[in-house]
Amino acid sequence: MMSPTHIATGVVIAAPFAIFAPELAPLAAVSAMAGGVFPDLDLFVGVHRKTLHFPVYYWGAVALAGVLAVLVPTTATLAAFFFFLSAAVHSVADWFCGGNELRPWENTSEHAVFVHPLDRWLRPKRLIRWDGSPEDLALTAVLSLPGLFLFEGPVRLLTAATLVVAVVYAAVRKRVPDLAPWLAE
Ligand SMILES: [Zn+2]
Repeated sequence: MMSPTHIATGVVIAAPFAIFAPELAPLAAVSAMAGGVFPDLDLFVGVHRKTLHFPVYYWGAVALAGVLAVLVPTTATLAAFFFFLSAAVHSVADWFCGGNELRPWENTSEHAVFVHPLDRWLRPKRLIRWDGSPEDLALTAVLSLPGLFLFEGPVRLLTAATLVVAVVYAAVRKRVPDLAPWLAE
């Protein structure tokens, strides 16, 4: 899935706070947005969907940060919890997307996301055929609803901006390998 989908997912994860603890909601949402985009930084360093995608280990960090956040509820521990939770969800969600290839619509890659403890790749489930596909964009739009309607201020603004990026990205997605081959590498 494209980064905007993961960012929007982060806001959805934080959405219950908008209702039950509004004073903590912006912190939770922004931390989860950051955690949602973080794994995809391995587009720039290392191997995409392997170097910063941890479909198993992030959950250990979630458990640890969760315990810490309950014992010592500070801005930092709460932020860490939502960051890791969103990164964990991202790493698992990519399993349901296409492979980590240059042109995922060609369906030649059997590498969805790397599972470090098993030392092997998971095969793509292709429920979302590729990042930026029409169904991926539809998913981003639906997942953006809480950010647009339950939040206000910076979170609502960031959600709207992310949705705009998603629309543009989906529109040019198939030309990305030609426009920015370094990114695809
Ligand atoms: Zn990813």
